[in-house]
Amino acid sequence: MHRAEIVVDLAAIRHNVGLLKELAAPARLMTVVKADGYGHGMVEVAQVAREAGADWLGVATLDEALSLRASGDHGPLLCWLTAPGEDYAAGVAADVDLTAATEAELDEIAAAGDSVGTVPRVHVKVDTGLRRGGAPRADWHDLFACASDLHRERRLRVVGLWSHLVAADNPDHPANHAQQAAFEDALSLAASAGLEPEVRHIANSAATLVSPSFRYDLVRCGIATYGLDPAPGVTPARLTGSDGLRPAMTVRASLSLSKPVATGEGVSYGHTWIADHDTTVGLVPAGYAEGIPRAAGNTASVWVDGEVRPIRGRVCMDQFMVDLEGDLPPSGTEVVLFGPGDRGEPTAQDWAVALDTINYEIVTRVGGRLARHHVDTACAPEERP
Ligand SMILES: *Cc1c(COP(=O)(O)O)cnc(C)c1O
Repeated sequence: MHRAEIVVDLAAIRHNVGLLKELAAPARLMTVVKADGYGHGMVEVAQVAREAGADWLGVATLDEALSLRASGDHGPLLCWLTAPGEDYAAGVAADVDLTAATEAELDEIAAAGDSVGTVPRVHVKVDTGLRRGGAPRADWHDLFACASDLHRERRLRVVGLWSHLVAADNPDHPANHAQQAAFEDALSLAASAGLEPEVRHIANSAATLVSPSFRYDLVRCGIATYGLDPAPGVTPARLTGSDGLRPAMTVRASLSLSKPVATGEGVSYGHTWIADHDTTVGLVPAGYAEGIPRAAGNTASVWVDGEVRPIRGRVCMDQFMVDLEGDLPPSGTEVVLFGPGDRGEPTAQDWAVALDTINYEIVTRVGGRLARHHVDTACAPEERP
């Protein structure tokens, strides 16, 4: 084992993609692999997702889309975090579906298509209430008219019309109903402008799992692909139980050292933890440079050789200490920071709760000097983590 590493189980990704595809049908499935596949490896996840039946892939930036193409990926691929002045021609040449929320963007994309000699594929994005990206309602009429003109002139092809949800993890939130009504308005306005998008899409993982009426023609699933629950406490138990989503990421390390600490002695910078009884502590060689949140000091726990052990004192740049409650395991003993939970280890969700954040942030931020490798537990046993 490495000093400290991320192990990603591709069999879990494959299983989750299959589950999501079946659940979403007849809607098609987009697997979202932005931000290096939420920390799991964009290229590896993309490949497995395509094999497991993902109809589309989704990324935020054009750079991510171009990296995927450079890795040999082809097939429908949407990117959405573009801005005026973007190298749309590179996207068009690589057959990447682009997002437009303004007439200026439509014009830029059409011009990029002219320069490349291809008809660009465009998804028009409307803001239905998130008030982040997307065209505000006041712009819809003119935006759709512009898109329709360009489509008719064959200077671009309007493939999709889409939006993004505010509170899909909370189905009782009034924004859901308001957004669906707004999306329906956008769809009928687009139809009266003569647009007939192949794919209408608004659902993320949470909506896909808990709100079937949001699935439309295509769902965009990120976090659920990685086996994490987008809506803890809301997602039906059958989707998170033993046949449900499987967390794909394990972060583990080799214990470097263990030693006694006496009553009254402090541990790590600032002595924010002081032993109230004689105990032992162990050194885990990963720190905030690896994306282990500094806030995990005195809050989160890890698994050491079969036992859940609390982090003691501050998490440092390169290392942190755990309470071993009198045991002195040898250096090299396996430490699991988080994983699927099968062996009783904490999960990314446990870390999220301890740190008052969401599982997305826990898996996406780990990295730094951690080695990352991919295994496939559906293959040979020696490839198991
Ligand atoms: C990240 C993202 C998603 C995926 O969201 P999850 O909650 O991870 O499923 C879907 N759509 C857009 C626009 C996104 O930015």
